[in-house]
Amino acid sequence: MAAPIPTPYRADRLWTAQGWVRDAGVQIDDGGHIAGLADNEGERLGRWVLPGMPNLHSHAFQRAMAGLAERRGKSDDSFWTWRETMYAFAATIGPEELQAVAAQLYVEMLKSGYTHVCEFHYLHHQPDGTPYAQPEAMSLALIEAAREAGIALTLLPVLYMSGGFDGRPLTPRQRRFGHDVPSYLRLLESLQARESGSVRVGIALHSLRAVPEEAMREVLAERSTAACPIHIHIAEQIGEVQDCLATRGARPVEWLLDHASVDARWTLVHATHLSTQETRQLARSGAVAGLCPTTEANLGDGLFPLADYLDAGGTLGIGSDSHISVSPVEELRWLEYGQRLSTRHRNIASRREGDSVGGVLWPAALRGGALASGLPIGQLRAGARADLIVLDDRAPLLAARDESSVIDSFLFAGNVPLVRDVMVGGEWVVRNFTHRDEDRIAARYRTVTERLARR
Ligand code: ZN
Repeated sequence: MAAPIPTPYRADRLWTAQGWVRDAGVQIDDGGHIAGLADNEGERLGRWVLPGMPNLHSHAFQRAMAGLAERRGKSDDSFWTWRETMYAFAATIGPEELQAVAAQLYVEMLKSGYTHVCEFHYLHHQPDGTPYAQPEAMSLALIEAAREAGIALTLLPVLYMSGGFDGRPLTPRQRRFGHDVPSYLRLLESLQARESGSVRVGIALHSLRAVPEEAMREVLAERSTAACPIHIHIAEQIGEVQDCLATRGARPVEWLLDHASVDARWTLVHATHLSTQETRQLARSGAVAGLCPTTEANLGDGLFPLADYLDAGGTLGIGSDSHISVSPVEELRWLEYGQRLSTRHRNIASRREGDSVGGVLWPAALRGGALASGLPIGQLRAGARADLIVLDDRAPLLAARDESSVIDSFLFAGNVPLVRDVMVGGEWVVRNFTHRDEDRIAARYRTVTERLARR
């Protein structure tokens, strides 16, 4: 039997690894991959067609508490007081709630232009720390939510062992996060057995404070972890830098670069507080800095040294982390705006005269996001999964824009949704601003969150 003929599409302008191509064709095979970028025939997709953005850092359950921690408490509010609110909220979430919240979140991600999400998942056990009858129940809820929404997923089960750099035990509220190394590896292997075209599995070490050195070594030496992406929270908070200096005699990023073979398989989430030397060494390592500007702003974390890092050739990607905002546009906008506000200069991410900020940040985040997700780099090319977004042809904002300006207008001025259609793995999941199953998923989300609010 002859192989099925790929479905042909055409685009007025298609973003490829070589930049914008005019009157481009894109053929998609029935396995959801791009078969080629040749003849421009078939259905017209639109004027501006871009690769979908990977979201490299997500804690899905936190979406349901977005906006619930914005009231001043008794003491100085900080990341650490926010974390108490988050822990209390996490205690109300079981597999059913997690699936409902995550599916709604993933619909919102798709509609904003994310087509892949890395889920940094540590809510493993029942709230009192007892494993579920099916130990991977919470992980499976996330896989199921991604399938329902139609977003591609890199699931990162998190190893979380101690409550601080001194190795203190987990607090009662942290117990549901905990594993020892053997039970963690069992979870990992059972999830790896479920990998598919749209579900990948990587590993996550929660942070240096939650994973003792010996456990880190053991996990990294395992064959089952040899090829997968490795994520870790690092240097998000000054307190964490001070504790690391006090107990390990080095700053967190400095310590990690000295004690692990950090390379392009690694994503260092936040990496906010870097010395000049750490910034250069991290850039040289090839690891991805996983930046989450709206969450970092919301939590008062601090500002990443963007200019120095880009000058040193560093790789970055973006994540929506706590989901106080769910939009690649807003992450990239605030990445740049934070720098402008602190330096009182403009156009910080573009390091060479003539470069535009969007023209630098969008492809940088695509590349870093792909690395962090364990995807091949360069998404709109033959052999890649067909994950793409089509911008709104009719948006007045984009009417008089060309290849040199459309991304900047999208990033800096796109305050009404500009993503009209979204395809993941060759399937349309959003068409004409509407997700294929959004009413059902939103209704279930409403029921579940109203129930949570009454608890
Ligand atoms: Zn995080």
